[in-house]
Amino acid sequence: MRTLTFGAMNITQPFKSTLDLIGNTPIVLLEGPSKAAGCEIWGKCEFANPGSSVKDRAALYMIRDAEARGELKPGGTVIEGTAGNTGIGIALVANALGYKTIIVMPDNQSKEKMDTLRALGAQLVLVPPTKYADPAHFQHTSRRMAEETPGAVWAGQFDNTANRKAHIEGTAVELWEQLDGRIDGFTCAAGTGGTIAGVGLGLKERDENIQIALTDPHGAALYNYYAKGELQSEGSSVAEGIGQGRITGNLEGAVIDTQFRVSDEEGMEWVSQLLREEGLCLGLSSGINVAGAIALGQKLVAEGRDNPRVATILCDTGFRYLSTLYNADWLREKGLPVFDWLDAK
Ligand code: PMP
Repeated sequence: MRTLTFGAMNITQPFKSTLDLIGNTPIVLLEGPSKAAGCEIWGKCEFANPGSSVKDRAALYMIRDAEARGELKPGGTVIEGTAGNTGIGIALVANALGYKTIIVMPDNQSKEKMDTLRALGAQLVLVPPTKYADPAHFQHTSRRMAEETPGAVWAGQFDNTANRKAHIEGTAVELWEQLDGRIDGFTCAAGTGGTIAGVGLGLKERDENIQIALTDPHGAALYNYYAKGELQSEGSSVAEGIGQGRITGNLEGAVIDTQFRVSDEEGMEWVSQLLREEGLCLGLSSGINVAGAIALGQKLVAEGRDNPRVATILCDTGFRYLSTLYNADWLREKGLPVFDWLDAK
């Protein structure tokens, strides 16, 4: 068996480093989604990472890559612009390796992420959300700060392909081995695109018949890009961490066979069902991914594949969104349906 880059294959063996706790996440068969799709839908439990999200993987790879390039030296600082989860991953890895962390984040992300970053000891810089073309955008602000701070490196998760390498060498290999090399489709949404591009490339290396689908939230431009070659967006989404308007460095060369667009309401239906019927408390991007996985499963069944297996990413824990997705007032303010159990006072 191939040596895995993350953690250890056998979790009954003791780990030698807390960093080994990143990756090698469990995979679980999702009963309701499988029933809805008419085939097996599997969820990769990325909330089981130490920072409770898929982004711990990218954080570890980007920091190790900066060290290997000789840019990050002992006592140095890692600076990043992030919707939050990458910052949490970076802060944990940086603490374990003796680096400082500065995180630039749009001020409309969940309070839980901000509080978590502060609790982890990261310096948090909040900026107003603005379009990517604006020099004040969180990504540009973080890059400038890294240029101006002695001993600092900019992680640059959107265009730094160490991010997707974490998924080529880690997530894709784990999925392949966990599903015994029998996997028909994979889908997830894109923030940086590291997960969809990396898992897609890693799986295609093993079996080119595996269909890779992009699941896009409303307000993102990638659905139209893969459907008709135009970066064009319609509508909007409150989902944090996903929704991309450009072809990032991580998306360049990604193999996308098909694409789906999923609304926040549809994603919330699956968040609700998975919580109430399967005991999983997830963020909205996970619900959107599951809706996309069902669409991909149905497509593969319609194409005549025999009991296809589809995998997707359960990106982060819902505990990160208690003040937003799981808060009746916030949902009402956003014009979204309120989970009925939240309203039962
Ligand atoms: N879901 C959540 C909650 C995230 O924070 C992110 C990371 N931005 C993603 C999904 C998307 O992952 P990626 O950056 O690899 O496209």
